[in-house]
Amino acid sequence: MRRHRRAKIVATVGPASNTPEMLKKLFHAGVDTFRLNFSHGTHDDHAKVHAAIRALEAEVGRPIGILQDLQGPKIRVGTIRDGKITVTAGDTIRFVLSGSDGDQNSIPLPHPEIFAAIVPGHHLLIDDGRVRVSVTGLGDDWIEAKVIFGGTISNRKGVNLPGTVLDLSPLTTKDRADLAFGLELGVDWVALSFVQKPSDLLEARGLIGERAGLMAKIEKPSALDRIEDIIGLSDAVMVARGDLGVEIPHEEVPGRQKELVRACRLAVKPVIVATQMLDSMVAAPTPTRAEASDVATAIYDGADAVMLSAESASGAYPVEAVAMMDRIIRSTEQHKLYRSIIDASDPGEEQTAPHAVAAAAADLAEVIHSAAIVAFTSSGTTAARIARKRPAVPVLAITPDEKLSRRLCLLWGAHSVLSEDIHTYEEMVERATRIAQAEEFARPNDSMVVVAGIPFAQAGTTNNLRVVQVGPS
Ligand code: PGA
Ligand code: MN
Repeated sequence: MRRHRRAKIVATVGPASNTPEMLKKLFHAGVDTFRLNFSHGTHDDHAKVHAAIRALEAEVGRPIGILQDLQGPKIRVGTIRDGKITVTAGDTIRFVLSGSDGDQNSIPLPHPEIFAAIVPGHHLLIDDGRVRVSVTGLGDDWIEAKVIFGGTISNRKGVNLPGTVLDLSPLTTKDRADLAFGLELGVDWVALSFVQKPSDLLEARGLIGERAGLMAKIEKPSALDRIEDIIGLSDAVMVARGDLGVEIPHEEVPGRQKELVRACRLAVKPVIVATQMLDSMVAAPTPTRAEASDVATAIYDGADAVMLSAESASGAYPVEAVAMMDRIIRSTEQHKLYRSIIDASDPGEEQTAPHAVAAAAADLAEVIHSAAIVAFTSSGTTAARIARKRPAVPVLAITPDEKLSRRLCLLWGAHSVLSEDIHTYEEMVERATRIAQAEEFARPNDSMVVVAGIPFAQAGTTNNLRVVQVGPS
């Protein structure tokens, strides 16, 4: 079973998609990696979905990625006296450091780190930015603010503080318990929400080790300020446009998306563009023209993957949303302008031998019209270096590591195949030829470019390039 596109699809699982039957339909419609959103659901719910995906994987004989998305330090207002409070532009309102005892005129905010870090002039955005206020004064346990955009604030609504760096670990007590649970299940990726600074990743890495890939969700302006270091410490990145679009002006999100995709490509880290891609398909069987264009833009930008959230988790048309995403990606990748656009956004590569060998493989494959590039990869870096060039032919990533074969389900252009270690050159050629044909990437008399690191089975090297001719049938 092979997919006829390069960019990958990530779909969030939820009540609309959490049965074995639905997961199977979604996989066949095009999902490469499933996202378990730990902002919702019980451990038991997630364990069932995890088991169903692993059973599906065994049934279809293809690796499937599983991404655990941790809720992170999502900030919320407390319980308001009357359940809600309506504020009008120009009003002065008060927040109090408390879980619930606000009076009619004050809003409980049970987060001491906000009171410690906020200063006059900072903004608080409530309920996805619907209500915006600017801080005018504060004490140890109160904040006074002027309302800029009015509206109704109800219990437990989310709060974003774009300009304030909070002294918060990106791992809450709940996240730590969820993380331990996810690692026990054997998830392939762990995504950290609201990363603010590089050291946030070190803490998570210490807990995760190499048991799963570490993904940084970029949704805070402070993360943008230190983005290179954050990407360097992550195994992958998510452009989390939902919260990012609350924290920075809407008009800056598209440019940031392009910057982030480019920076990740340069750093050889997979990048997901996420949130609201086909949002109207939550309630309708077709997307808006603007949404179709949004998916295509992420593909032209060179994203490794695009993601569905509510569309697949709680919408009325989860399978249709995946199928639509699949069609948009394929159509975009086949458009006559795609190649020139994707090549023009190539950020170049590091001037090192492994990168030059990977780049040469991509060039060579094109020059000789090869059917595929076959990469033997034990840490995934050889495959990622080749994928970074966004070559015109598919990349078959052969690895003996089952966990890696699943992680590669996020990498642009990679079709991963699990196969035991090779030891000799002859074995390499034989294995590449056999697998490429079995997986329907090559036919008799086709040529292929085979890339490996020699000595074999030693991670981190990319130093060997070979043209292999598939024999006659
Ligand atoms: P969320 O993250 O869905 O967990 O909020 C994605 C985003 O903010 O875009
Ligand atoms: Mn978010």
